Amino acid sequence: MGEETVDVAIIGGGPAGITAALYAKRKALNVKVFETKAVGGQTADAIWVENYPGIKKIRGMELMQKMAEHLKEFGVEPEEAAEVTGVKKKGNLFELDIENGEEKLLAKSIILCTGSKYKELGVPGEKEFYGKGVSYCATCDGPGFKDKVVAIVGAGNSGANAALFFAGICKKVYLIEFNEKTGFDSVYAQPINAEAKIELMLNTQAVEIEGKEKVNGIKVKDRKGNEEKMLAVEGVFVYIGSVPQNKIAKQLGLKLDGKEFVKIGKGNEASIKGVFAAGDITGELAQTIVAAGSGAIAAVSVFEFLKGLK
Ligand SMILES: Cc1cc2nc3c(=O)[nH]c(=O)nc-3n(C[C@H](O)[C@H](O)[C@H](O)COP(=O)(O)OP(=O)(O)OC[C@H]3O[C@@H](n4cnc5c(N)ncnc54)[C@H](O)[C@@H]3O)c2cc1C
Repeated sequence: MGEETVDVAIIGGGPAGITAALYAKRKALNVKVFETKAVGGQTADAIWVENYPGIKKIRGMELMQKMAEHLKEFGVEPEEAAEVTGVKKKGNLFELDIENGEEKLLAKSIILCTGSKYKELGVPGEKEFYGKGVSYCATCDGPGFKDKVVAIVGAGNSGANAALFFAGICKKVYLIEFNEKTGFDSVYAQPINAEAKIELMLNTQAVEIEGKEKVNGIKVKDRKGNEEKMLAVEGVFVYIGSVPQNKIAKQLGLKLDGKEFVKIGKGNEASIKGVFAAGDITGELAQTIVAAGSGAIAAVSVFEFLKGLK
């Protein structure tokens, strides 16, 4: 087992992690980035990103490829399929366990960029039919539903974005919203209302997902009248928010807020010296531009912190 020491280990390869690595490398720090899946984070799941300044409209996946390519120019290639499964203090350093088990790494500092993850509906059939019609990512799984009928659960920005995408390829799209009002930005109102294929169902609760080998329906309840009905759909895409990916934060014993996001102070410092956090895991506004900015702040703070150690 080889042990290597780096200046900073960045956990997570979304926009926060990639930007943190870019800024750290520009400060000539020795950097490693670890990512459970492939780089890109949740932004790679966005069908279209239309609010990243300087780029009017781009697929989320493409934006993240551009970020990763930019980082590569600085000689950093995140390790993919490399979940950090444990971090513990070892003197002034941190020891990381990486998923493949072969490798341990020592780091003088950590930037936690583990982001957040979709919230599950928690209804019968959801787990059973995951990958068989139930999905949390239209970009990943959407093209398989061409000419079919789908339901989107959650009419926030991500749900609206997905509904418009599916309206372009599907026969019909139900957009199901628990609350009396939609949660999406006003820019979505006109295109959603103008799209005949989208049926917006307010005050409606998804109750159960049904099927045989694959999804064939979703049972919904009108929250005013209490009547239930079955909608015949082949796909159910869930967009009801997210929860922090805080396993490592908890393991390290970092202070969390009431919603279990990592508490940070000035310069994105977490509650243990040498540990910083950036992006969605801090509970800041969950947006790509914010995550990127937050990663930049954390990296510069790491630089200042390491200077102080010398
Ligand atoms: C469907 C969808 C559409 C969106 N659309 C937009 C949009 O149009 N515009 C916008 O500004 N924002 C959008 N967002 C929000 C935006 O994607 C997030 O705010 C942003 O990705 C957060 O970046 P992050 O780097 O903090 O975390 P994430 O993007 O969540 O990345 C965290 C990464 O850390 C990895 N990770 C977690 N734990 C570990 C571990 N132990 N070891 C190694 N790796 C780990 C995860 O696999 C993940 O890749 C959207 C989000 C979703 C889900």
